[in-house]
Amino acid sequence: MQHIIDRFIGYATIDTQSDPTSDSTPSTEKQWVLAQKLAEELQEIGMKNVSIDDNAYIMATLPGNVDKKIPTIGFISHFDTSPDFSGTNVNPRIIENYDGGDIVLNAADNIVLSPDYFEDLLFYKGQTLITTDGTTLLGADDKAGIAEIVTAMEYLIQHPEIEHGEIKVGFTPDEEIGRGAHRFDVEKFGADWAYTVDGSQIGELEYENFNAASAKIVIKGKSVHPGYAKNKMINAISLAHEFMKALPHEETPQNTSKREGFFHVHHIQGEIEHAELELIIRDHDRNQFERRKRLLQKTAESLNEKHGKQITLELKDQYYNMREKVEPVFHIVEIAKAAMEAVGVTPIIKPIRGGTDGSQLSFMGLPCPNIFAGGHNFHGKYEYIPVESMLKAVEVIVKICELTASKE
Ligand SMILES: [Zn+2]
Repeated sequence: MQHIIDRFIGYATIDTQSDPTSDSTPSTEKQWVLAQKLAEELQEIGMKNVSIDDNAYIMATLPGNVDKKIPTIGFISHFDTSPDFSGTNVNPRIIENYDGGDIVLNAADNIVLSPDYFEDLLFYKGQTLITTDGTTLLGADDKAGIAEIVTAMEYLIQHPEIEHGEIKVGFTPDEEIGRGAHRFDVEKFGADWAYTVDGSQIGELEYENFNAASAKIVIKGKSVHPGYAKNKMINAISLAHEFMKALPHEETPQNTSKREGFFHVHHIQGEIEHAELELIIRDHDRNQFERRKRLLQKTAESLNEKHGKQITLELKDQYYNMREKVEPVFHIVEIAKAAMEAVGVTPIIKPIRGGTDGSQLSFMGLPCPNIFAGGHNFHGKYEYIPVESMLKAVEVIVKICELTASKE
């Protein structure tokens, strides 16, 4: 247990926050520090063909140890942390034999991790938790995934009696700003399929995510003295309001869950002469997703008809539900499920209400479901991870390798 704790903390204490405003890859120079360390560590534990490219993508190979032809599989995680919360001077705390009560993260600022708010904590009574000191995020998303993959590879190297095919490992920068997959060289990686180890709670297994699009609506107005404006003024603010009214009220993030899609207006800015709306569309169902996009187009058209071409709509697809790429090769989900069950983990299969790097990779030709890394409350000071969940993730990774070899 101490080994994986030390490994994880070694990563967590290196600041790797990514930056959405930067155009470079990695988006922040500081991500190189952990990237270099990881490349060295992969060499040290005995991985082959360890490479780190100009964009800090790390790849490595564990050669197969059986003669028969076995599919090559991969495990992927990201080493950047979210720009939403500080990752500077992360100072993890270890809570042994958690008693199910409040954990005071920071007495001075009265920051308490409590099962009153975070009921999931009660699953982990008696376990060892790693928490923050209340001033930063922890970075279990997704340095836990990295620690688990490295530990699993080390285990396979030390236990050559476990038969497996060729295994690929990939660590990426900039996942948190949606660019983890952008420069991922799927061909160089050379796996038939892979798993991102980037889920939350123990047991999570995900192969469905949203279809996603973003829209920007720019509205021109016509300013006229308000006292003499009848039939002359076009108020861009009013048009923005009309546009929003055309969207179904109930289909917003705060009113939907599970497989329900939504429109989400997240930015509005306006004067009489000029207004802008920005929104996103999310839906698991591809037809519904297309219907939502058409609704925006129709709304823009009908307002333009009514008011005379004041509105321009820019619509951009962002990512798609990986389900359509995973379903034709569904055994890759079955293997992960069987691996969890074999090591005593109950699979929790549910659609992701977001995207993953795996969804982009799936559409780049590398089908890529997501499995748990074990942490909770990502992207903030209440982030924590039970060490027992990390150890189970290691077992699941090892078992996936084993089952892939035995099933062929
Ligand atoms: Zn993540």
